[in-house]
Amino acid sequence: MARIAYVNGRYLDLREASVNIEDRGYQFSDGIYEVCEIRDGALVDWPRHRARLKRSLGEVRIAMPMGEAALTAVLHEVMRRNRVHYGLIYLQVTRGVAHREHSFPSPSVKPSLVVTAKNLSFAKNEAQAAHGIAVITLPENRWPRVDIKSVALLPNVLAKQQAKEQGAYEAWFVDRDGFVTEGSSSNAWIVTKSGTIVTRSADSGILPGITRAVLQEVLAALQMRFEERPFTPQEAEEAAEAFVTAATQIVMPVVKIDGKPIGNGVPGPIAAKLRSHFHGFSTFS
Ligand code: PMP
Repeated sequence: MARIAYVNGRYLDLREASVNIEDRGYQFSDGIYEVCEIRDGALVDWPRHRARLKRSLGEVRIAMPMGEAALTAVLHEVMRRNRVHYGLIYLQVTRGVAHREHSFPSPSVKPSLVVTAKNLSFAKNEAQAAHGIAVITLPENRWPRVDIKSVALLPNVLAKQQAKEQGAYEAWFVDRDGFVTEGSSSNAWIVTKSGTIVTRSADSGILPGITRAVLQEVLAALQMRFEERPFTPQEAEEAAEAFVTAATQIVMPVVKIDGKPIGNGVPGPIAAKLRSHFHGFSTFS
């Protein structure tokens, strides 16, 4: 089946879909993106992702490409045309097309909007969660505004590749003070030996993950002990459990850090419990 992308007002076969070479997303990474999980043919937590999109765009002064209702309709249409029941939707907004010059185009141009959808294997994702993943740690080398979901992901790309080459699945960045910030495409969590669930505050150093935010509601509802504070790789090594959160991974157990097993070296009960409760707290639209 041909995959269909939405590109600036048109639904196109992915093989023919393209953007202008002077799109500022292409030339300057001057754009913002979002990724939403699709489950049971519905968008998971879309209102929260839309709110984060709006915030990210506001921070870099790009206009929303269309109204909220119209954007939601485009997402549903891309999902429908690609017949995605379980997978993800990707949307990207850039400042638009203009002759190359660093400062904003003047007069301003229309932002570009691209939306794609992809089927994922539910069985594969569950198998990965049953095995757990390995992570490596790397020095933080990103700009301080990682709270903005920018398409400028070169440090994240290089980190993920290094993880892969070292037989791991994710890389955790470590800041100058020796604390884990987050993963290259996920937020980082540990469970201490006394059962407290810990993740870094969203005040600095991380993207405020939507999965992270929903999980905090799960923790409150289940009355589980939770602390928002930074932790070191060594504390993670000595933890009972660790996991990462991201839209398509939900709660993914981490069983190894820099080659050393965490806890018993197998996924722990708390990560499994949180994973199983997660979608009871998310919205479907
Ligand atoms: N941090 C980074 C750097 C990410 O790329 C992602 C995934 N988009 C996350 C955290 C997790 O965010 P979310 O739960 O909204 O997918």
